[in-house]
Amino acid sequence: MQLRVLGSGTISGRTNRKCSGYLLDEQILMDCGPGIWSALYRRDQRMRPIDHILISHFHVDHIADLVPLLWRQWVLEKERQNPINLYGPRGLPDWFDKLTAVHHDWVKDLSISLIEMDEAEIEVGSYSVAARPTGHTDNSICFRIGDTDGKSAFYSGDSGWHENLIQLADSSDLAIIDCASSVQDPKEDHLTPVLAAKIADLAGVKRLMLTHLYPEAWQFEPAMEASQYFKGAIILAQDDLLIFI
Ligand SMILES: [Zn+2]
Ligand SMILES: [Zn+2]
Repeated sequence: MQLRVLGSGTISGRTNRKCSGYLLDEQILMDCGPGIWSALYRRDQRMRPIDHILISHFHVDHIADLVPLLWRQWVLEKERQNPINLYGPRGLPDWFDKLTAVHHDWVKDLSISLIEMDEAEIEVGSYSVAARPTGHTDNSICFRIGDTDGKSAFYSGDSGWHENLIQLADSSDLAIIDCASSVQDPKEDHLTPVLAAKIADLAGVKRLMLTHLYPEAWQFEPAMEASQYFKGAIILAQDDLLIFI
C-alpha cells in the first residue's frame, strides 16, 4: 500500500500547503479540499479515473475540489466503465441533491453511487474500509483502510479527542491524524500534537503522521512535542510526500 499526501494544510493561505487530500495506491482518494484537483492532475494528466472517493465531512477545506473533480470526469471520462463511488457521512445524498440543484444537468448525468457511512464496514474494490464518527461535526467520520496484504492505514479526518479514533486506529501501520491545533492554543474540535501522539500511543500504531497543519504549528515543533508521548516513528506531512505502508 502506498499513500501520497496531496494536501497537508488548512484553509490558511499563509503556507504553500494545499487543503486536505490523500491518495491511496492511486485508487482511493480521501478528502478533496481546495488544491487537490490540481495536485492530482498536475503530476499525470493521463492518470486513470479515480473510482473511489472517501469524504470525512462536509467542511469546505475537505470537499471544495470535489466539484471540479466530478466536472472533469463528466467532461473527459464519458467512456469510463465504472461509476464513481462516493463514500461519505450521513447526509451525503442530501448534499448531492443540493449540488444538483446548483449545477443542474451535468451532475444529474454523472454515473455515481453514493454510499453513506456512519459506523459501517464495507468492501471498496479490493480494500476493506471501516468508518466511525469523530464528533468534529454532527456527522464527521474517520476511516480505516485495510488491504489484502494485511496492511492498514487510519485517517482521522478532523477530530478532537474521541475514543473512536483509538479504537479504529488500533494497531494500524500508519495513522494520519489531525494536528490543526497547537498545545499552546488548543481547540476542542481539533487535536494538538500531544493529543495526536497520545491517541497513536493508546492505539498502538506503528507510525504516526501529523497533518492538517496550520502555519502556527511550525513555531512549536509539533513532531518534537508529539515524540514525548509516542515512541514510534513520527512523520510530519508534506504535500506530495509518498509513504510506503
Ligand atoms: Zn472540519
Ligand atoms: Zn479541516
